[in-house]
Amino acid sequence: RLSHVLDYGVDEMIGGDRNHLWHHIKPHACFQTQEQMIIVSGKGLTVTDIRGREYLDATSGGVWCVNVGYGRDSIADAVAAQMKQMAYFAGSVGTIPSIKLSGKLLEMMTTMGKVYFSNSGSEANEKSYKIIRQASTIDPSRRGKYKILYRDRDYHGTTIAVLASSGQAERKKDFGPFPEGFVQIPHCLCYRCPFGRTYPDCDIQCARSVEDIILKEGPDSVGGLIVEPITAGGGIIIPVDEYFPILQEICSRYGVFLVIDEVVAGFGRTGKFFGYQHFDVDPDMVTLAKGMASAYEPVSATVVKQHIYDLFLNDPADPDRRMHFFRDISTYGGCAGVMAASLENIRIMEAEGLVENSRVMGDYLLGRLRELLALPVVGDVRGKGLFCGVELVTDRQGKAPPSEAQMAAVVDAVKARGVLLGRTNSSLPGLNTTLYYAPALVITREEVDRMVDATKKGIETVFG
Ligand code: PMP
Repeated sequence: RLSHVLDYGVDEMIGGDRNHLWHHIKPHACFQTQEQMIIVSGKGLTVTDIRGREYLDATSGGVWCVNVGYGRDSIADAVAAQMKQMAYFAGSVGTIPSIKLSGKLLEMMTTMGKVYFSNSGSEANEKSYKIIRQASTIDPSRRGKYKILYRDRDYHGTTIAVLASSGQAERKKDFGPFPEGFVQIPHCLCYRCPFGRTYPDCDIQCARSVEDIILKEGPDSVGGLIVEPITAGGGIIIPVDEYFPILQEICSRYGVFLVIDEVVAGFGRTGKFFGYQHFDVDPDMVTLAKGMASAYEPVSATVVKQHIYDLFLNDPADPDRRMHFFRDISTYGGCAGVMAASLENIRIMEAEGLVENSRVMGDYLLGRLRELLALPVVGDVRGKGLFCGVELVTDRQGKAPPSEAQMAAVVDAVKARGVLLGRTNSSLPGLNTTLYYAPALVITREEVDRMVDATKKGIETVFG
């Protein structure tokens, strides 16, 4: 069982992990209390740690991105072949995979017109802000429309400007001051309605209130609105069907570009290729990353409608139109191997019917998770496709959250049963009280059952 790790020297690696590696988003003291898991291999949904323990991964790599599952030789082969032929040329020049991939993405998003590549979700979103801001200086009809609205509980990335547009206030802590021009709008989680209303009698106030905010800010100053179609890290928040059409109508009335952040929801995660395709909405821009190459390689894109691209032909400061362009660049936006990875990733999804499997297995997963509502600490179960959340509460009526220690204990108890579960927000800032399920889209019924059964036992271990 351990043969696959013997070459590494287990103690040496554990020491190196403790002494050299700065782990992302993990308390620095963690090594003092517990040996940390080191992952060495993966196949399908199963990962194996350095001690030879196997886990069923409900998180697609911790941050919902390994959509086609682990161990895909054909992606590695496609990347190797592309790198051997042509590894890189700057994004100011086309390469065979960048041309093919942009064409493929536009085939999948029929109302979009152009694709701009970069290499992380944060960057893809930042590009959309730069497009909105540059448009507000070069297009006389958009002059001064520099403000960007973002939603409470949504997250759009880690660098300072995209963090300025994070609705998760806890992530902003310690990093200010932030650039100005980012304005928060309410979230749309019915379970904890920000207006204290109840659907369907609420008149979808969360969406309608956006008009008041635009009027308060001044319509002449608001250029864009960014939203996750289904909020990921903010608590698996799924808007009601009426939400997006209302938002879209308000955006078009006030000339506000609607940007949909598909970094998590894209590429089959929610049972359609893109999350926004569940709703009656037609965004001006869509941003992609994570599942785009199932994180085998870092690749992202900002996909825009043709009218956005064409705005850059209207620069009055450049009447002879020789120098008009989006003044942005991204070195690794020209990496050819990552695009080969994405093309092969999309081919696999189509050939194996993984989006359909996400829908079918997602329905099954949601049904099984709803059985957990029989446990008094399960307050709400929500999901679309293979993207589900189970929000825990210590009292159903008041919806009081469990403690951090209790939540951590649940995840540990589930892990002890061989399943890696994630934890995320519940629309309550800073409290990770929603268990989430975002497994690879290749999941089987039997694997769904194992995840749910382990969760039930884990919850019962902690809460009785
Ligand atoms: N948008 C959303 C919805 C995300 O969840 C994330 C990351 N989890 C990002 C953007 C940022 O992506 P990245 O970490 O690749 O910069």
